[in-house]
Amino acid sequence: MHNQDPRDHEGLALNPIFTRPGERTEFPRFTLRKEESLPETAYQIVHDQAMLDGNSRLNLATFVGTWMDPEANRLYLESADKNMIDKDEYPHTAAIENRCWRILADLWHAPDPARSIGTSTIGSSEACMLGGLALKRRWQHTRRRHGLPTDKPNLVLSSAVQVCWEKFCNYWDVEARYVPISEDHRVLDGHDLADYVDENTIGVVAIMGVTYTGMYEPVLQISQALDKIHKNTGLDLSIHVDGASGAMVAPFLQPELEWDFRVPRVASINTSGHKYGLVYPGVGWVVWRSAELLPEDLIFRVSYLGGDMPTFALNFSRPGAQVLLQYYQFLRLGFDGFRAVQGASRDIALFLSREIGKLEPFELWNDGSDIPVFAWRLRSGHERHWDLHQLSDRLRMSGWQVPTYPMPADLTEITVQRIVVRSGFSKDLAMDFLEDFREQVAYLESLSAPLPDPQPTPGYHH
Ligand SMILES: *Cc1c(COP(=O)(O)O)cnc(C)c1O
Repeated sequence: MHNQDPRDHEGLALNPIFTRPGERTEFPRFTLRKEESLPETAYQIVHDQAMLDGNSRLNLATFVGTWMDPEANRLYLESADKNMIDKDEYPHTAAIENRCWRILADLWHAPDPARSIGTSTIGSSEACMLGGLALKRRWQHTRRRHGLPTDKPNLVLSSAVQVCWEKFCNYWDVEARYVPISEDHRVLDGHDLADYVDENTIGVVAIMGVTYTGMYEPVLQISQALDKIHKNTGLDLSIHVDGASGAMVAPFLQPELEWDFRVPRVASINTSGHKYGLVYPGVGWVVWRSAELLPEDLIFRVSYLGGDMPTFALNFSRPGAQVLLQYYQFLRLGFDGFRAVQGASRDIALFLSREIGKLEPFELWNDGSDIPVFAWRLRSGHERHWDLHQLSDRLRMSGWQVPTYPMPADLTEITVQRIVVRSGFSKDLAMDFLEDFREQVAYLESLSAPLPDPQPTPGYHH
């Protein structure tokens, strides 16, 4: 968790201009200082260190919200003290949390949103854990009712799942059965599914907006494959939709696409409020089609205005402000506003993918027409003195962060580069980016000898 830095044994030197009379000019780096310091001094030290981080608006790698209205920023400051778990102390924040997941249940076509159940979380990772735990517990109950063993649960998912699902399987002792993606099956699409499921399968995960590429997995088609398995074997399996990005895009941009509770096998859906929910980092959501799908024995009761408030979460304390910010966005944008914002991001993604696809060295993997995310690779069969990692490095010179990484099993020999278009990345910024991109590609193409091998760069985390 900690890399050695040559300065580790040195103190933290302060610019004398910031020190006040009597203050020392060197602070210890890894031990708590004995004396106090002035708030201005402490502020300056933290501010200056954080300033060296990249500019989040130029970060085309992250899915996470980096821009909100000034009014949202004001609300954030006003509500920074609210703890989401203190339902008793902040009953109105608790009521707003309920309104938010009810809005999502409705947006995702729950047959009777009043009979759904849901919660906010710290992000999709926690939401996926909860969705997975509910699948596992339901499977255990069914097995026990029939006097069958419950020691070997497995979960079926695409090899391109986000790392939170690997964690879920590892932390909760569930065997992960990965269906590898390939050139022919670029996402989990239901093919050969029968080879992966058995009586110990707790469910199937479908991803709306695969992190590697932004592509949707065809939930309806996966469900139809499961219908066939049900008919042939009697196994009746549920789907959890990981809609970290797509669950806040598809309702607005692809309203006809059936991926949500319109598909009867979909038991639960999660999303990241802080991705295309357009909130700063720290909020996710999970909703179950109906309350029976969330086993009662996973729910804890906390006291709430003398009444009782069911909770299902991994964390106890967490920020309440982000939940208020989510509600702010729901009020601020409404359906039409969300459609406009996501539509603008998709138009920019399509524009950029079209322009990048026109450049000779590249071949698009997808074009950003699902969620506004797309990836490309180098066209093969052409000798080159450079690779995508070196292009990422060159783009970094003008501040752009564009990740390059290998695809998951069984496509690890393919390296792609990817852009996430988010609210706040305007057409103008996109054109600036494109100009820098073309310039760096022209530079690399003009090389008459290979660049030295790139330094091994730290792994990219999806
Ligand atoms: C980002 C992402 C996650 C993890 O979400 P966090 O909100 O970052 O915890 C899970 N699944 C998918 C598909 C994602 O894109």
